[in-house]
Amino acid sequence: MTFKSDIEIAQSVKLQDIREIAAKLGLTEDDIDLYGKYKAKVDYNLLNNCNGKKAKLILTTAITPTPAGEGKTTTTIGAADALTRLGKKTIVALREPSLGPVFGIKGGAAGGGYAQVVPMEDINLHFTGDIHAITAANNLLAAMVDNHIFQGNQLNIDTRRVVWRRAVDINDRQLRFVIDGLGGKANGVPREDGFDITVASEVMAIFCLANDIMDLKERLAKIVVAYDREGKPVTAGDLKAQGAMAALLKDALKPNLVQTLEGTPAFVHGGPFANIAHGCNSVIATKMAMHLADYVVTEAGFGADLGAEKFIDIKCRLAGLKPDAVIIVATVRALKYNGGLAKADLEKEDLNALAKGIPNLLKHVENITQVFKLPAVVAINRFPQDTEAELKLVEDRCNELGVNVALSEVWAKGGEGGIALAEELIRLTEDNKASNKGLAYVYELDMPIEEKIRAISQKIYGADDVMFTDKALKEIANLEKLGFGKMPVCIAKTQYSLTDDPKKLGRPSGFNITVRDVSVSAGAGFIVAVTGDIMKMPGLPKVPAAEKIDVDEKGVISGLF
Ligand code: ADP
Ligand code: MG
Repeated sequence: MTFKSDIEIAQSVKLQDIREIAAKLGLTEDDIDLYGKYKAKVDYNLLNNCNGKKAKLILTTAITPTPAGEGKTTTTIGAADALTRLGKKTIVALREPSLGPVFGIKGGAAGGGYAQVVPMEDINLHFTGDIHAITAANNLLAAMVDNHIFQGNQLNIDTRRVVWRRAVDINDRQLRFVIDGLGGKANGVPREDGFDITVASEVMAIFCLANDIMDLKERLAKIVVAYDREGKPVTAGDLKAQGAMAALLKDALKPNLVQTLEGTPAFVHGGPFANIAHGCNSVIATKMAMHLADYVVTEAGFGADLGAEKFIDIKCRLAGLKPDAVIIVATVRALKYNGGLAKADLEKEDLNALAKGIPNLLKHVENITQVFKLPAVVAINRFPQDTEAELKLVEDRCNELGVNVALSEVWAKGGEGGIALAEELIRLTEDNKASNKGLAYVYELDMPIEEKIRAISQKIYGADDVMFTDKALKEIANLEKLGFGKMPVCIAKTQYSLTDDPKKLGRPSGFNITVRDVSVSAGAGFIVAVTGDIMKMPGLPKVPAAEKIDVDEKGVISGLF
């Protein structure tokens, strides 16, 4: 079997003028800034005269994934197209792709097959420049920190404790650790420094949690950039950097409007990491989508242990949102992978490995329905290699346990392949309204930091307990002393396991989580707890996707996926 590639499918569809897409939402040309024919930014001032109308919010999350991704974005887009087909006014709200994965291993992030947002070339490459604006704001702050030190260091910054790093949105391991400020007295003060990928910058996390420009500025001012010689935090506000940083971000902060292959409106806006940050699109885009539509389908990164937990405990809590239903994406291949099958063998039928992997799915379902108390449906994202026997086994196991399940064929068929899923979502969201179920957080904000981490580890990951290194304990005590103790906690953990060891697949039990380091993202408003090795600047693989990406004499791009 050969299939058309994502970019071939995307280029075969005629796009609608973005003004027509805006008109479907009741937006006029005054409400939007056009970025060419097929992209627009929507004025955030629209939210000021918000009439309080609230769409149903549907969150897409997933089981513990394989390294290739399990089709959350694809399913999110397909579900939105299916809801549109059923006559619901729907918007899909997604993250903006980073250039890191586009040129690295994973590829783009605009969906796949017949469930994509377009123009996929633009969305995956630069788009409307938001990520560049975030890079500039990040690096302006870095320049102001070092300039302050160079100009006499009035704030008494300890040059060994500058925690603000530089950023670039390319996977470039060469830049992880650098020594800069070399070249003698006129050329800065030498110190150890380094680069993170832009989407790991706290500016990205702040951008995605800010309610408006003023909130953005207040949060930027709170960023801790360094500690002084007495151990007190030095902030971006101390350096008077927040105004200029926000000025660089003012257009970026407007949600980007594009369309799906079937003409459903889509907001693609903001894209923080899902480990050291919360991993979902901007609060402004989600709120605007909820203001303009009846159904909003959105995605959180990685599996439900990371993405959905942060979506609820961080984003929903800070923004006052509540999902009405959750889609848990499962694939036969990821279940087999969780059942211990090697990556190279995933395309062959293996009911044994599949059965062994299914408990992973059930743990994620339990987390959504029993911990967060939200209605959920499992969407089995059908891959061409899946056999009938395998699909039946997953469905049967879910049915036996009373879990709602829908086969999703949106990758192969677009919205038509998601009708069963959309019907189930409509049923669940209407049901939910009737029973008016509340949302339960995993922890309360006033718990001590250690207890918050323990609650997530035990309830969501299934850990026995949490171990803290001495370094982590010292830092927790310090952060609580500095007044950062009441913030939510963002755990940076591998996405390939419910534990902090990527090799422990399935539904592990009898394990501890080890917290090695803790820090504060004071502007974003959360504590970051690091388990295992978390990379804030990925590297390129042996054969980067970049080698296959090209552009012809007419400017037509190829090789993106
Ligand atoms: P996630 O959001 O979970 O990371 P994506 O939706 O981005 O995953 O999908 C990852 C990749 O898998 C994409 O290249 C997409 O085209 C492909 N893909 C998704 N669903 C299917 C499917 N049902 N069959 C084949 N390929 C798929
Ligand atoms: Mg995705």
